[in-house]
Amino acid sequence: MSCLFCKIIAGEIPASKVHEDDRMIAFNDINPQAPMHVLVVPKQHIATLNDLARANDDLVGAMVRTAAAIAKDRGFDAFRTVFNCNADAGQSVFHVHLHVLGGRRMTWPPG
Ligand code: AMP
Ligand code: ZN
Repeated sequence: MSCLFCKIIAGEIPASKVHEDDRMIAFNDINPQAPMHVLVVPKQHIATLNDLARANDDLVGAMVRTAAAIAKDRGFDAFRTVFNCNADAGQSVFHVHLHVLGGRRMTWPPG
């Protein structure tokens, strides 16, 4: 198993966990781009958004709701969520994850 996030899920690599349930974990990004920068990660290894199946619809919905709950818990009602899909879009870890950023003013368009 060479996937970094699978290793974090298995407890083989430490992470600063902020949420865990049967389907996903969330932990602080090691290189935060905002005062809050959390990654919401499904326990199932899915490499990219292109690999999602209809059977994952409920999981993805739960990930998005978890992201909103984490932001709310931190007192942020404004936050940015990002899924990068493939290297040209900025994906560096090929295990689907939802970035949740908050605590500073966000700009658009993203870089
Ligand atoms: P992406 O570039 O969209 O694939 O996002 C991968 C994210 O994982 C980056 O924001 C990295 O800073 C973050 N990351 C890499 N290694 C770790 C780690 N060991 N613990 C927490 N976050 C990490
Ligand atoms: Zn994985």
